[in-house]
Amino acid sequence: MTSVDSPVEAAAPEEPAAITFSDLGLEGPVLKALDDVGYETPSAIQAATIPTLLAGRDVVGLAQTGTGKTAAFALPILARLDVSQKTPQALVLAPTRELALQVCEAFERYAAHLRGVHILPVYGGQGYGVQLSALRRGVHIIVGTPGRIMDHLDKGTLDLSELKYLVLDEADEMLKMGFAEDVETILADTPDDKQVALFSATMPATIRRMSQQYLHDPEEITVKTKTQTSANITQRYLVVSYAQKVDALTRILEVENFEGMIVFVRTKNETETLAEKLRARGYEAAAINGDIAQAQRERTVNQLKSGKLDILVATDVAARGLDVERISHVVNFDIPTDSEPYVHRIGRTGRAGRTGDAISFVTPRERGLLARIEKATKQPITQMQLPSVDEVNETRLARFDDRITAALGQAERIDGFRDIIAHYVRNHDVPEADVAAALAVVAQGDSPLLLEPEPERPVRERFDRDRDRPDRGDRGDRGGERPDRRPRPNTRMAQYRIAVGKRQRVQPRQIVGALANEGGLQRDDFGAIQIKSDFSLVELPADLPNEVFDRLAGTRISGQLIELRPDSGRPRRRSWDDDRGPRRPREYGDRPAREGEAGEAAGGDDRPARKPRHSKR
Ligand code: AMP
Repeated sequence: MTSVDSPVEAAAPEEPAAITFSDLGLEGPVLKALDDVGYETPSAIQAATIPTLLAGRDVVGLAQTGTGKTAAFALPILARLDVSQKTPQALVLAPTRELALQVCEAFERYAAHLRGVHILPVYGGQGYGVQLSALRRGVHIIVGTPGRIMDHLDKGTLDLSELKYLVLDEADEMLKMGFAEDVETILADTPDDKQVALFSATMPATIRRMSQQYLHDPEEITVKTKTQTSANITQRYLVVSYAQKVDALTRILEVENFEGMIVFVRTKNETETLAEKLRARGYEAAAINGDIAQAQRERTVNQLKSGKLDILVATDVAARGLDVERISHVVNFDIPTDSEPYVHRIGRTGRAGRTGDAISFVTPRERGLLARIEKATKQPITQMQLPSVDEVNETRLARFDDRITAALGQAERIDGFRDIIAHYVRNHDVPEADVAAALAVVAQGDSPLLLEPEPERPVRERFDRDRDRPDRGDRGDRGGERPDRRPRPNTRMAQYRIAVGKRQRVQPRQIVGALANEGGLQRDDFGAIQIKSDFSLVELPADLPNEVFDRLAGTRISGQLIELRPDSGRPRRRSWDDDRGPRRPREYGDRPAREGEAGEAAGGDDRPARKPRHSKR
């Protein structure tokens, strides 16, 4: 049994450039991969965790999604991987298959320059065949959900006898989902000398006990949150999916009255690609990042100062110390990994006693990070909605009017044209208003002055279009999470039931937020919402396609699976026995199934399906 050390405060450095990935002890192919993905400096959790793990010590890290915790554990594993070992040497346990897949993708990217590394995702819902043949061929790193990992251990198809590294990712989520016993069994039944890294956004007593019981003298790492933002900066956030970010930014650029703007992204590569996209849309934008030579950086900053440039797309490092009064807006295109860089970033506006605006894009999965920043900065960050087509058009019309007014101010040039127009009117017998409109067409060129109103598309069609969106976890309602709940006219509505109610202290806005963000529903898909003691009733379009159910299969509110299904008017007593997984409702307040019951159904959500057989304690 071991005890947990007193916390080590991993202060985010004042000067972020002071630490590099190579200072942390990483080298060679891993550094090269980091350069490829475009990370400039380690995040606070990475700076604190990587050297500790490389030194062989266990870690308990208090960190949530968005802090960079995946690289914090993945990089030290990859740096020490022995590719000649045929049995699995690293196992990462994650609460959901979405997270398992994300972690796998991250490993793949960081391992891009390491030869012959095999990484396997293992989760319920995927056929055993694929997993078994990969396991037989030999795998170095497995990222899986505890339920399916236990299935393989039960079947004897997974050999963890030579496991060197075990990571528990989002440990508190795994416990909430009822995986505690599986996790403990895996902790207990794997080699005692393995290194364990446990990451959790919160530290409930069970996790503290587990870490005392199964980890060896772990270093507890938490990121210091002593930060202050200036009160003259208005802070807002917009919930947006990854795929919608560029469109959201262009709408904001149209509607917000900005003078100069810094748009922050996470990687060097992204500064270039985003600046290019903005230039293609007609904005004076340039990229600055840590790879750009100092002289070039100064030139770019001077252009921003003089108004030749309006938008800088920057990484944290590149924008350090930037002091340009013209910067009226900071947009966090990617929310920063912690409150410290957030404060540095938004401090680029509101200079010299002016007011400033900070707008942060937050994907649904990053809301926890936003809450953490809000808590640390002790200032409210208010939600904003994506500017509507009407708002964009209003601004465009106002700007058009302004251009006319400005031109009318040029008396001499107007005089020069007056006779020409009068001549045209006389000779062509065309009203002056028509001539003015024709000249507006000339001035406007091919691009339309106004945006087309968004067509009402049937629900099914929208989902067909949305199917290819890249990140299942980041699906956002285009209008943010608080739609006014007015159903579309002519839409046949039906009542649906979800398995959360007053008992879970659920609020209508949470229901709307979850269904909109994760199911891809839009504001006008919602009708009445009734919150009952153990469940809630939600009116939604009667023709909801299966995909919506599939997308929402793993969705939770207050930790409880919502189990969306058409409402029959009666509470459900039994589990369905079909195996379509995502649509398989369970009894409310569901518990892991008893021993001998079916495990995870195909496509299931990976909740535990058995009690662990044994537990060495
Ligand atoms: P995570 O908290 O691991 O889910 O990471 C959140 C996001 O931050 C991911 O998109 C990572 O690619 C990105 N990220 C992680 N570490 C860094 C870093 N040092 N610099 C820039 N971006 C990072």
